Formats: sequence, structure tokens, C-alpha cells
Amino acid sequence: MYEQEIPGDAAHERVLSIVVPCYNEEESIPLFYRETRKAANELRQRLRVQVEYVFVDDGSTDSTLDILKKLRAQDKQVHYVSFSRNFGKESALYAGLRAANGDFVATLDADLQDPPSLLPQMIEFLDGHADYDCVATRRETRRGEPIVRSFFARMFYRIINRMSETEIVDGARDFRCMTRRFVDAVLSLKEVNRFSKGIFSWVGFKTHYISYENVERAAGKSKWNFLSLLKYSIEGIVGFSIVPLVFSSIIGLLFCLLAFAGIVFVVVRAMMFGDPVAGWPSMICVILLMGGLQLFSLGVLGEYLAKTYIESKDRPIYVVAEEG
Ligand code: UDP
Ligand code: MG
Repeated sequence: MYEQEIPGDAAHERVLSIVVPCYNEEESIPLFYRETRKAANELRQRLRVQVEYVFVDDGSTDSTLDILKKLRAQDKQVHYVSFSRNFGKESALYAGLRAANGDFVATLDADLQDPPSLLPQMIEFLDGHADYDCVATRRETRRGEPIVRSFFARMFYRIINRMSETEIVDGARDFRCMTRRFVDAVLSLKEVNRFSKGIFSWVGFKTHYISYENVERAAGKSKWNFLSLLKYSIEGIVGFSIVPLVFSSIIGLLFCLLAFAGIVFVVVRAMMFGDPVAGWPSMICVILLMGGLQLFSLGVLGEYLAKTYIESKDRPIYVVAEEG
């Protein structure tokens, strides 16, 4: 999408594209850019790898776009894509990957929770191991995170990995460095409901994991709350597993068998001892249970139907307002 502006004799140097999704990150971007420049210098001098930046402004309402434009004016290696509204981080990542031209592409958060200083090490690893196409990161601990959130996060990974054939790595961050063919594979998945942790794993290839300590945000605040995380988890499960659907059929079948045994029991008992009316409360309980289960199964079915509905509209994943 962009012409590469590689200065002078560096024409055969390889390029690393750094993709950064930004949503209201006016405070973080200058810090991020300063920090990443250090890594870029090291990459250029030691590994002869040029860096281009692809910032994706995900419909920010603060001065993020102005800051990006200023950076673009100062540094020709900076590019930006600005969305017409907030489309979410997953869409921003997709747009960034599409706009990236590099032989390698790295994705980083703007808040410096993903240390850019790891980039040279990642490229070195990919250079040294031709059979690997991706270096990803995971955090060793969830220190600094609310306990309730860690608990639910752990539970989520346990559940999804039981259900899904695609492995979803616990604690894996979206910070990773990929080769061109890995990126092309990721881009070939054009679904609207993008659950990156699943997509990165689904495309296959070998991925090497580096662990590091959880780092607090440099500035601004996290855009996640409990509800958005819950939605994200359901997205992940529905996107990468159909086990919940199978579950409802199994529960349904089980209850049919149970009911059949119950009918036989009641009929035999009525024939032997007569049929005095009793047991209203227990009946109501059973009716409520059955009704609940039916609605639950309908809900599960609805989740999948809704996703199918959205995908079938084939809407674009994002709309660009401006780029440079
Ligand atoms: N982000 C985005 N669109 C959104 C929400 C977040 O592009 O709708 C970006 C955000 O600017 C940051 C990254 O995604 O660069 C991670 O967001 P955040 O730090 O809020 O998430 P956390 O690190 O808490 O998981
Ligand atoms: Mg963050």
C-alpha cells in the first residue's frame, strides 16, 4: 500500500514494519516513539534492518491523529492509517498488517507494555532459525493485575483449550514479530470477528515464545473492563470451537433419556398404587429447569447464528478516513 522510502545505498537492507494500534493514546505515542527509536537504531546498525512504522488510529477522540501527522512530517518512515470510527484493536491490527510492507512485521501496543527493546532479539532469532516464522511473547506472571481478573483469565484459557482444537496460549500477548509468509497467512483469514490469539495459532508455522515480566502501562489507562473482557472471551470460544453446540445436543439427549425412565417409573407406580395428586413444587422445579436449559441452548445456538449472520453480510473489517 505504501511505497518504501529507504534511504540511499540501503536498498538491499531488509525492512521491519512496526504496527501499532492506537486508541486515545496521545500521552503514550511520543514515549513509544522515543523508546522504539532506540531499538530501531540498534536494528539498523547491528542487524542492517530498516524500520518503518505503521500507526493505526482506531477512531481516537483525543489528539492522537494530530500527533501521528506531526510524526509523519518529521520522519518519512512513519505511516498512519486513521479509521472513520472506533473499530476495535483486532480491526486495527488487521489494517496495520495490511499496510505493512516489511520483510518482518512486529505488532506492539502503544502503551509500552510491550518493550520495543526486545525487537532486535526477535529478529536475531528469526534470522538464526529458518524453520521459525514467528517470535511471540507471553508474560510470566500477572502481577499488577486485579486478582479477580487473573482468576477469570485463567479460567477462560482452561475452558477454551478444552473446547478448541486451536491452541490458545495462556498469557500470550499480541506482541509478536512475524515473517512475511506468516503475515500473508494471517491476512488470508478475512473473518470479521477477529480473535487474534486464535488466528495466530490457527495459521500454524513454528512460533517461539519469549517470556517477560508484566509491565505497567506508561501513560493513559487500559480500555478494557470486565464486560468487554467477557465479550472478548465469548468471541474467542465461539470463533474457535463448536463444542458448546455439541454440548446442548448432548444435554438434550441426556434429559430425554431421563424423562423416558421417569415416564416408565410413573406409569408402573400409578398402575400398582393408584395416582393421588401430589408433588406440585417438585414439578415446578423440573419445569423451570427444563425451560432454563432450553433457553440456554437457544442462546448458545443464537451466538453462532449471530456470528454467521454478521459474517454473511461480508462487511469490511474497518473503514479508512485518512492515511499518510
Ligand atoms: N486499542 C485499539 N482500539 C481499541 C482499544 C485498544 O487500537 O478499541 C489499542 C490501544 O491503543 C493499545 C492496545 O490496543 O495500543 C492495547 O490496549 P490496552 O492497553 O487498553 O489493553 P491492555 O494492555 O490493557 O490489554
Ligand atoms: Mg495495555
